[in-house]
Amino acid sequence: MNTQTSQSLFEQAKTVTPGGVNSPVRAFRAVGGSPLFIKSAKGPYIFDEDGNQYLELINSWGPMILGHAHEIVEKAVADAIQFGFSFGAPTRKEVEMAELIVSMVPSIEKVRMVNSGTEATMSAIRVARGFTGRDKIIKFEGCYHGHGDSFLIAAGSGAVTMGVPDSPGVTKGVANDTLVATFNDIASVESLVLANKNQIAALIIEPVVGNMGCVLAEPGFLQALRQLCTREGIVLIFDEVMTGFRLAKGGAQARFGVEPDMTTLGKIIGGGMPVGAYGGRREIMDCVSPLGSVYQAGTLSGNPIAMSAGLAVLHHLNSHPEVYTRLDQIGAKMVDGYRASMAKLGVNFTINHVGSMFTLFFTDQPVTNFEAAKGSDMVFFGRYFHAMLQQGVYLAPSQYESLFFSVALQDAHIDQVIAANENALRQIL
Ligand SMILES: *Cc1c(COP(=O)(O)O)cnc(C)c1O
Repeated sequence: MNTQTSQSLFEQAKTVTPGGVNSPVRAFRAVGGSPLFIKSAKGPYIFDEDGNQYLELINSWGPMILGHAHEIVEKAVADAIQFGFSFGAPTRKEVEMAELIVSMVPSIEKVRMVNSGTEATMSAIRVARGFTGRDKIIKFEGCYHGHGDSFLIAAGSGAVTMGVPDSPGVTKGVANDTLVATFNDIASVESLVLANKNQIAALIIEPVVGNMGCVLAEPGFLQALRQLCTREGIVLIFDEVMTGFRLAKGGAQARFGVEPDMTTLGKIIGGGMPVGAYGGRREIMDCVSPLGSVYQAGTLSGNPIAMSAGLAVLHHLNSHPEVYTRLDQIGAKMVDGYRASMAKLGVNFTINHVGSMFTLFFTDQPVTNFEAAKGSDMVFFGRYFHAMLQQGVYLAPSQYESLFFSVALQDAHIDQVIAANENALRQIL
């Protein structure tokens, strides 16, 4: 496979952009080698600058649930650009977007649009702090909530101590206010709450984790968090930037039947454009400026082109429930195919999946939290990733990522992925 153009673009990029990329995972550091520079995408396929074609299972890290360059989104954007790009004033489309979100996600009574998932989570915890008058938050090890300072925090040494900065540039002051619990371990949350009585404003969680690979909450875990937060007056925030509109039209909260107080959204909601949103119970959202005193703003928030792309996708999902049935079928067929191949080949593996989210871990142990995810064979994953590329299948370039399926995948594409998986593994075993 010739990737010369990508390689030379990467060399060029490195001289003018840190690490040659605008988001670290794109640099292929976790798998080695040089990243592909993408020129175009259509349906389930992506094309690089050297003209190579790949079936791909990243879907821009989630947004492209209908596949790339879907006609309804193309048309919505083409129609919108005739009217101008940005006004910095309210528009009809923002009303339509808010009404649609509120109707699709029942726990959201009011919603504010922002420009990324990071902005959504940063804003949500500020509002939760303003609402409760408390400073601290709890997050889970291995959950990703964007690159806001408060979330780039690692667990401290003792179970009940404060977190420590996970990146230079994050202050100890900020780290003092973030407590880190263990996913699927309710006792770890209880002990943090007990040691910080009446000081915790919010607990934020990915209800299905996508960012340590796909990791599901064990039965009862989300319900237990709900009860604990209600009892302690803690704002429960579901970060559904990945899972929102993906696992059901009402997100993971609808699929698993647990209602958070606040929800953060992103990815699918922009249909591929830079969009995020946060929303929740009315009394909490009424704290947001200009109605309330918690300040949060955005020059390009609710941008009409971005709203048009997002609305096209959400309207489609809202009126086509069969999309979710199909996504579940795709997931199930993929898992069955993988399991059959893996059993034949005798590879140590664990598959975590729900609906259209999927991770193949190279470990025979169950993966229920970050510690367990770290037990996967990362070196083997790197070789597997490149072998899959050679087979024409483009996976997320890190073991700590979920794959995302789109409805653009036909059964023949799924068979192609399964065959590629088997060939790739045979090659590297
Ligand atoms: C992607 C992601 C974010 C961050 O969104 P950006 O748009 O990249 O800022 C936050 N939370 C979760 C769960 C995500 O998957």
